[in-house]
Amino acid sequence: MDSDGFATHSRDVNGFTLREAMRCGVIETDWFRMKAMGEVEELLKTPRVHFLYLHHVFPDEIDNFRATLAHVQRTHEMVTYSRAVELVLSGQVTRPTACVSFDDGLSTILPASRVMDELGIKGCFFVCPAIVGERDREQVRRFAETRLHYPPMDVLGWAEIEEMASRGHEIGSHTYSHPNMGEVSLEQAIDELQYSRDELRLRLGGVKHFAWPSGRWDNFSARAGKAVFDLGYESCASAIRGCHMPRPFAVDRRDVCLRREHIMGCWPLRHNLYFMARSVRRVGPKDYQWPPKWQRIVKQESTVPGEDGGVPGEAMALA
Ligand SMILES: [Zn+2]
Repeated sequence: MDSDGFATHSRDVNGFTLREAMRCGVIETDWFRMKAMGEVEELLKTPRVHFLYLHHVFPDEIDNFRATLAHVQRTHEMVTYSRAVELVLSGQVTRPTACVSFDDGLSTILPASRVMDELGIKGCFFVCPAIVGERDREQVRRFAETRLHYPPMDVLGWAEIEEMASRGHEIGSHTYSHPNMGEVSLEQAIDELQYSRDELRLRLGGVKHFAWPSGRWDNFSARAGKAVFDLGYESCASAIRGCHMPRPFAVDRRDVCLRREHIMGCWPLRHNLYFMARSVRRVGPKDYQWPPKWQRIVKQESTVPGEDGGVPGEAMALA
């Protein structure tokens, strides 16, 4: 931590707790069993699209981050986020394919984006315009406590984001101010989607992709999902683990709720590969879809976002 209590090293965020030690034990046991059976290599050879995502890469994580991406690049075709979305929609996936995205717009992703440039990998960086360029550290601290729910870290400014975009990286919307989209009213949810879209259009000339904060089903709603597409976003991403398998038919963008695989710069390579392999082992043919009760609502096309009214939470109950 620095003198203001801002996280500067991996250990500031990933403290060694009993829970973490137990989690590691489970992963290690399953990993070595899968390795012994030769499963890992076979699973990772499976043609599919795998969306990897991270939040931060501290200076003490950057070498491991580089090694992880270099390893994935040797075994997967690395594509842009937009290309990965196209492949998922078309279903025509013929080889192991991966892309990289980052959430929250933290300043440590700037050097991470340069490592990606060295490797020839272009990512998508999901940002919240409300906090971009905030230099008042009390404001950043409050945002981290109330919205991000992890220790405070410095955030990127617009000039840095524009510079990353000029190097070929994509910038996506992560809402305007990172609320729990499963708890706000539909009107607030639409405002979050719209303000973010409008500011990114103004600053960068456009925005295609959206990833919802925290990314679990209870952090979102069917009606907010419908609004994402009504407002012109081309894709909507969760943080639910998984990957996207080939399909003999194409689907509409409203049919797809992207799954993303959380990896960490501080995790050993085998832990990151373990989660990827586990997702391939578990994936089902319909794991690109919304929950069954949400599908009809997300797919209702509309020119007026949210015209059917109601509160997002109403549509939340899953079968
Ligand atoms: Zn986030």
